[in-house]
Amino acid sequence: MSIDRLDLVKESFEKKAVEVKAPDCKTSDYYGELVFDRKKMYKYLDAYTLKALLECIDKGVALDRKTADGVARGMKEWAMENKVTHVTHWFQPLTEGTAEKHDSLIDYDGKGGVIETFDGKSLAQQEPDASSFPNGGIRATFEARGYTAWDPTSPVFIQGDTLCIPTVFVSYTGEALDYKTPLKKALKAVSDAAVPICKLFDPNVNKVYSYLGWEQEYFLVDESLYAARPDLMITGRTLMGHNSSKNQQLDDHYFGAIPSRVAAFMRDLEIAGHRLGIPLKTRHNEVAPNQFELAPIYGETNLSNDQNQIVMNLMNSIARKHGFVVLFHEKPFDGVNGSGKHNNWSLGTDTGTLLFAPGKDANGNLQFVTFFVNVLAAVQKHNGLLKASIASATNAHRLGANEAPPAIVSAFLGETMTNVLYKLLEVPSDTPIEIAGKKGKSVGLIEIPELFVDNTDRNRTSPFAFTGNRFEFRAVGSSANCAGAMTTLNAAVAEQLTEFKAAVELELAKGKATNVAVMDALKPIIASVLGVVCFDGNGYTEQWKQEAERRGLDIQTSVPEMIKLFTSEDSVKMFTSTGVYTEKELEARNEVKWEMYSKKVQIESRVLVRMAINHIIPAVLDYKSKLLKEVALNKEVFGNTDNCTTELELISKISGYVEEIRVKTAAMKQARKQANAISSEYEKAVAYHQIAESLADLRRPIDKLEEIVDNKSWPLPKYRELLFIS
Ligand code: ADP
Ligand code: MG
Repeated sequence: MSIDRLDLVKESFEKKAVEVKAPDCKTSDYYGELVFDRKKMYKYLDAYTLKALLECIDKGVALDRKTADGVARGMKEWAMENKVTHVTHWFQPLTEGTAEKHDSLIDYDGKGGVIETFDGKSLAQQEPDASSFPNGGIRATFEARGYTAWDPTSPVFIQGDTLCIPTVFVSYTGEALDYKTPLKKALKAVSDAAVPICKLFDPNVNKVYSYLGWEQEYFLVDESLYAARPDLMITGRTLMGHNSSKNQQLDDHYFGAIPSRVAAFMRDLEIAGHRLGIPLKTRHNEVAPNQFELAPIYGETNLSNDQNQIVMNLMNSIARKHGFVVLFHEKPFDGVNGSGKHNNWSLGTDTGTLLFAPGKDANGNLQFVTFFVNVLAAVQKHNGLLKASIASATNAHRLGANEAPPAIVSAFLGETMTNVLYKLLEVPSDTPIEIAGKKGKSVGLIEIPELFVDNTDRNRTSPFAFTGNRFEFRAVGSSANCAGAMTTLNAAVAEQLTEFKAAVELELAKGKATNVAVMDALKPIIASVLGVVCFDGNGYTEQWKQEAERRGLDIQTSVPEMIKLFTSEDSVKMFTSTGVYTEKELEARNEVKWEMYSKKVQIESRVLVRMAINHIIPAVLDYKSKLLKEVALNKEVFGNTDNCTTELELISKISGYVEEIRVKTAAMKQARKQANAISSEYEKAVAYHQIAESLADLRRPIDKLEEIVDNKSWPLPKYRELLFIS
């Protein structure tokens, strides 16, 4: 049975919004009801357990077995009240998404029946079969043992009938097999490195938090149309499809009203997120048709990243309820904007100071400038590595294309901060940095406007932009786990802060006052970053590419080569000195990344070839045969083909494109065969990079055919249908 595309289109077009059942109360009444948050801890834990757990969360004090048992008891009571029947350790392996292994709470009661049990041991540690998760050869499959261990800093939550326990996932020998473990290490490293610097300005600081506010971009496609596109289903993006006559050139989607079916989905998603204590805040249309964005209020990085993973899962399931499929792929459609996941990032102290925002006085402002400049130094030193941290087969389609980000990591400061930095180089090191126009204060030579957030200009072409009280790492891909970027960024900043502290010590040893010592240590760094990593111009131009190369910034565009940077001397030194990765882990993870890259391209290439042969060629040959019959009929009736110019031209074009497809599919199959025979994961990925580059080449004749073949006989939903029906 064949499904008629036009029937599908009609059916999709007529779908109505699903009614959303909102709770009959205020958001704040049900916010967080499905997480074991502090409020629940106070309610369900005894005083001893509560104190120990809070010390563990706030100060990193280890939990003993007795406390774990106490916590498990409280959690079980809460879970049973919420009709939970199963428990799972929830973790983030190096594949995409999250993993779970559900166990029922029941155990034999010794009297012939069962009872619900849940103790500290099952809370703290589990042993899933790790052989099915990528590990880059760290652990041979025969000793398939990996442990998941509870992360008390991220609250346990309920999904459906299951209690989900956020965990790290490590191998038997202790190597990280997931995203969370290194992220937590990087967060500790940045705190450990930042606290001594904060103490120069404020002795009360004991901990520095990293904050993350992600902006999740995504596309929605009608699920019936999606199901008729094998490329979308299998690879997450369209591998063929002629541009719609209209796409985003009128910019009318961004400002348009949210379509009702989509609004219902968003509302449903928000309710589910809020029940899970995820502070979803902003929802809007994005630039491309059927593209949208969702952002929460920022939070501590590890927690915020967990929440992003939970939200992505929720989006997948809730979209289906509304007859949609969510596309997280960075570039699902050629010719329209792709999707990113801007990582808004900042550091803040346990005394409540945001370190990338101006302070209350000259001392606070110097602290701000200190952190600001050191971030730039870290980004400069590890610009290639930061790019590698967001590189993937899917994000490669966004990198370097004419949309954020270019494949060069530079930092945008805006005019105000650029001027401040230049000025600092000119004035004596003891010049106070004042907030402009603050009453009752002497206005110093350096002025920072008070309302900073509204003062920074926007530069959409920059992959790493200062936006008033935070940096926005825009290069992160929409499908990525933010931990990849956040681990590298926080670790690089930790290394830089440690080096900076040593430089300040040297200045202090010369008998200088603290503010002078700090400024003298900052000046050479300021001079360096202004000339190299700082760039406020248009990042899309050819001149910038040349200029960036001259400045020594990394301009590599091949993903397999970018990945290699993780094991460069500088990277290994940075990651090992901060305790974030061992060299062995870095090597293993690179193997995983290369393998993943090759597999993704391999799958795309297979799907494209099969669709060309199974979908496109049969459809166009059908049409061609119709045309041939028409020509034959003309000949029969009129004795010539004088009236068949259009038919003959179409026949000749179709034959030409079909031949092109035949040649290119054969070449692609051959290239795959050769790539598959390579045993080194790196070299295989390099070979697959070539294949990735040739996918567009094979797509071209197919898209040309779409343009000339009868609309009725085209077998796949077209761009205009996928992008404009919602
Ligand atoms: P825009 O699209 O204008 O950049 P959004 O409001 O969509 O801004 O998203 C900004 C994100 O940045 C939100 O998640 C917000 O909570 C977050 N954010 C704001 N301040 C900070 C900060 N100091 N540190 C980290 N994230 C922040
Ligand atoms: Mg933004």
